[in-house]
Amino acid sequence: MAGHISIAIDGPSGSGKSTLARKLAERLGFVYLDTGAIYRAMGLYVHRAGADLDDEQAVDALLPRLQKIRFGHENGTQRVFLGEEDVSEAIRMPEVSVYASQVAAYAAVRAFLLDMQREFAELYDVVMDGRDIGTVVLPHASLKVFLTATPERRAERRYAELRSRGVEEAYEQVLQDIRDRDERDMSRDISPLRQAADAVVLDTTDLDLDESLEALVRLAETRLPLGGERA
Ligand code: C5P
Repeated sequence: MAGHISIAIDGPSGSGKSTLARKLAERLGFVYLDTGAIYRAMGLYVHRAGADLDDEQAVDALLPRLQKIRFGHENGTQRVFLGEEDVSEAIRMPEVSVYASQVAAYAAVRAFLLDMQREFAELYDVVMDGRDIGTVVLPHASLKVFLTATPERRAERRYAELRSRGVEEAYEQVLQDIRDRDERDMSRDISPLRQAADAVVLDTTDLDLDESLEALVRLAETRLPLGGERA
């Protein structure tokens, strides 16, 4: 990754990763890659193809056709495409979170997506968020952050976000989904969600978005050669 700075942000669903990673990238002038969106696009594709998401072999068989996932940036916002179709909104539906975490448990799926993610970090200064960025995708990231918050606080945030997009779901259901997804993401054999040994933990339970962002910017400024000489 010669010459490029990479910031890896990992953590459970609803810890604020995506919003914070995007804003941090904006502040630093880096490119933001939301790796969850890739898994979501993949989950959506497999679901639409009519495959049984619990059937690992059936999912693996679809991989060769998945050259179709592409990213674009529009006014600083990441867009995700399946072929020609912009699926940026479709992948945010709650059921797609479940498809994503089902396909994300399969080794062949993760291997398939690994190169795509690493290439990004070779080309640009990046902020990447996900579950295994600091542990597997970018083990030599310039800065690793593990963002966390209590399940209840994360569910409150997800609930508010869904409502703001007009998606009606009961709070209890959102909380249950968060707990189920934590369990699935942390207990899978391949690339489970866990904190890298050299990650800085930021607990955002009692921080609002601005406070969390300022904490991240401070971390980046203290730990990274921003704007100055790069070794
Ligand atoms: O971050 P987001 O909620 O969009 O991710 C959706 C799902 O994709 C996660 O629950 C997780 O199972 C999977 N994922 C992953 N590794 C990543 C990013 C997302 O396994 N780097």
